[in-house]
Amino acid sequence: SNRVAQPTTPPIALTIAGSDSGGGAGVQADLKTFHAHGVHGLSVIAAVTSQNTRGVSAIHAVPLTHIRRQIEAVFDDFPIAAVKTGMLGNAATVRLVARELRKRKPAWLVVDPVMIATSGARLLDEDAIDAMINELIPLADVLTPNLPEAEALLGCPLRTSTRLASAGEALLALGAGSVLLKGGHARGDEVVDRYFDDRGSMEVRHVRLPREGHGTGCTLASAIAAELATGQTPRSAVRRASAYVHRALKQGYRPGGGSTYVLRH
Ligand code: PLP
Repeated sequence: SNRVAQPTTPPIALTIAGSDSGGGAGVQADLKTFHAHGVHGLSVIAAVTSQNTRGVSAIHAVPLTHIRRQIEAVFDDFPIAAVKTGMLGNAATVRLVARELRKRKPAWLVVDPVMIATSGARLLDEDAIDAMINELIPLADVLTPNLPEAEALLGCPLRTSTRLASAGEALLALGAGSVLLKGGHARGDEVVDRYFDDRGSMEVRHVRLPREGHGTGCTLASAIAAELATGQTPRSAVRRASAYVHRALKQGYRPGGGSTYVLRH
C-alpha cells in the first residue's frame, strides 16, 4: 500500500522568554524541554542575551511592537494549550505580556519570575517587579520562584524556617493559582521544593547534586507547561517536571569553559 499513516499533531506550548546564545537556558532550554516531552514548541522572544557558559555579556530588549507581533502570530494560528513566561527584562514588556495574556486567556500559564542569573547578571529591571506582582502573577496557574525571587516578591528575607513555613500563604496571596517555591538556593544535602495550592502543600525532595546547573529554572517551568499541555494536573505536572530536571542535571555536561552544567534533555 502507498498509504502513509498520518501522525497525530502533538500538544502545543508557548514560551515567552529570553534567548540564550549559549543554548543552555532561556528559550533554547524551553524548546528542548518541549520537544523532549513530545510537545510542539512555539517561542516569543522578549530579549536577546549574548551569553556563553561564562556568563551574560549583553542584553538586547526586543522592541514592544515586535513582541506583540510575535504573540499575535502564534495565537492567531495555533491552538496553544499552555504558556510559560521566563526572562522578560523590563516593566514595559511585563505589562505588554500580561495585557496580551489577559486578552487571550490560555488554558494554562506558568510564570517563572526570572530576575537574576546564576552568573549574577540582572535579567529583570528592579522597577519591573511591581508590574510582575500587579499584572502577571495574578494570571498564573503555577508561579515558580527560587528563594531570592520569592524574597524579592515578598519584600522580606526567608532565611528562617518560620518565615519559610508561612511563605507559601504569602506567595499564594499574590494571586497565582499555585506556587512552587524552589529550594535550590538553600543549604543541605537535599533540595526541597515546596508546592502550595488551595488544597495545601506538598514537598518534592531530591538529593543535591554536587554541581551547579545552568538553565534549571527555565527547564523546570517549561517542563511543567509541557506536562500541563499534555493533560497532567498541576500537582502531577510539578512532580514529573521536577524529576525531569533532576535527571537532566545528573546527566548534564559542560559544553564550554564555564563551570556550570548544561542539562541533557
Ligand atoms: N538566560 C536567560 C535568557 C534566561 O531566561 C535564564 C533563566 O532564567 C538565564 C539566562 C539564567 O539561567 P541560570 O540562572 O540557570 O544560569
